[in-house]
Amino acid sequence: MSTPAISLKDVDISYGNTKVVHDVTFDVATGESFALVGESGSGKSTVLKAIAGLAPAWIGEISVLGKPRGHGTDRDFSESCQMVFQDPYASLHPRKTIDAVLSEPLAVHGIGKRSARVLEMLAAVGLDQRFRFRFPHQLSGGQRQRVAIARALMLEPKVMLLDEPTSALDVSVQAEILNLLKRLRREQGLTYLMVTHNLPVVSFMCDRMAVMNKGRIVEIAPKTALYDGSFSNPYTRDLYAASGSNPDSNPARVAASNMKDSQ
Ligand code: ADP
Repeated sequence: MSTPAISLKDVDISYGNTKVVHDVTFDVATGESFALVGESGSGKSTVLKAIAGLAPAWIGEISVLGKPRGHGTDRDFSESCQMVFQDPYASLHPRKTIDAVLSEPLAVHGIGKRSARVLEMLAAVGLDQRFRFRFPHQLSGGQRQRVAIARALMLEPKVMLLDEPTSALDVSVQAEILNLLKRLRREQGLTYLMVTHNLPVVSFMCDRMAVMNKGRIVEIAPKTALYDGSFSNPYTRDLYAASGSNPDSNPARVAASNMKDSQ
């Protein structure tokens, strides 16, 4: 079997003296889109943060593209794996232009031809060049998330950690961003590990999912289980039943019926 893009084995994660993630083990294959689902507080973001080096108190084994992770970030890691956060308002520096935001990773990594790359990435995320010298507050939420995605892709990583990347946005905008992420994954051969509490988003975006409850993975299932509810764990079945009760708030359904990736 080929090396997984992401591999976690027996991972426990703590904040201070409180262990919030217990015994987490899963692999994400290269090119796969894998979801972590579960209710708020179940430990999904914490798992992503540990992989990204933002939750340093963990034990167990974590590797990305075959390389064991340390307890922080390093140059190699940021070139191979990047994270996109939930809130595009908080994640962009208010006094930096979009050009500065996008150029920064290239400058830090000593990469030239920055202008060309900035223009290329603006186009890749569906933003007109006129956005280049604007500030974040001049952009809508969806446009800001496009910038955050472009910034994550500046160093051409192979793996993306997506922490609820659309849940802070209006439903119609969520659909656009989901379509964008789907297209970018296809075009750039990316591997996604995506946190969401929204099962329809999983069905639209992902191949498999790990279901978390109270800091533990209770089930790993293919997305096809979402079509027929064939989950083995009672907690997952409840989550599935609850998600079906509110189809109108379903951005993935909007996304699927609006495949055109418009602005
Ligand atoms: P989810 O992403 O599933 O909503 P989180 O990973 O954010 O869950 O949180 C898991 C648990 O860790 C929760 O009990 C939460 O209160 C706690 N937690 C999250 N971040 C911190 C932090 N920075 N310090 C202390 N506890 C935290």
